[in-house]
Amino acid sequence: MSLKGRVALVTGGGRGIGREVALACAREGLAVAVAARTKSQVDDTVSAVRRLGVETLALPLDVTDAEAIAAAVRAVSDALGPIDVLVNNAGIAESAPFAKTDPALWERHLSVNVTGPFLLTREVLPRMLERRWGRVINVASLAGLYGAPYITAYATSKHALVGFTRALAMEVAGKGVTVNALCPGYVATDLTWNGARTIAAKTGKSFDEAVQAMARINPGGRLIEPAEVAAAAVKLLWDEGSNGETVILDGS
Ligand code: NAP
Repeated sequence: MSLKGRVALVTGGGRGIGREVALACAREGLAVAVAARTKSQVDDTVSAVRRLGVETLALPLDVTDAEAIAAAVRAVSDALGPIDVLVNNAGIAESAPFAKTDPALWERHLSVNVTGPFLLTREVLPRMLERRWGRVINVASLAGLYGAPYITAYATSKHALVGFTRALAMEVAGKGVTVNALCPGYVATDLTWNGARTIAAKTGKSFDEAVQAMARINPGGRLIEPAEVAAAAVKLLWDEGSNGETVILDGS
């Protein structure tokens, strides 16, 4: 099996985990379309992907916008070819005690972290099934498998993404397409730094103390590097056999 010339779409590819996944896909020889809302970050990742010698496309995109998703998928097909690999990585995480979890915060999490992956997968899956090859990789979280305080909206959305992964995997089993989820603990990205700022503001801990406390929550006692998540994504690209799996990355 070769991955060279295959086409990947990575959402949330402007920074953090998504950027590393986009670069890792490029190193495997895939053409990579990079999607997120912040154009400057998308352009920056696209430049880095291009330097690795593969074709690429910048897609300023909000994954909650169904019409924009349909247009983006058409644009990728026209520019690079049909999408073989979809990495549903775009996500948000805002912590709040349950009493302060208002419907807007709740809806934001469901809409970005669950409906976004649903809408994107719905657009790309038919062509994958037609071509009898495809990889859908959903970046969930340990919070998609376990609970923790102050993250009911986030944990609910990531549990839903894991449920989506498992159910769709069963539906496409044996058809050349696999659907799997990556479940990292705290990763060294902006999302974690923002969480640390919130903890620091609420508890009086310093930012560094808050980061260390988050690192200690990971079973391995350290933050996970975005490149480790990207390496796990690449493994799934090569793996014909894993379907409906939740790959745990906990730093241990
Ligand atoms: P990050 O650095 O904040 O990156 C998140 C990415 O998602 C950004 O590129 C962001 O770009 C994009 N995004 C957010 N909302 C979007 C929207 N509506 N439409 C399109 N793109 C959107 O965070 P990260 O840590 O790399 O997170 C990536 C994924 O990993 C998320 O799903 C997160 O839940 C998951 N995860 C993270 C951790 C962690 O500790 N960091 C742990 C487990 C799982 P724009 O804001 O420019 O749109």
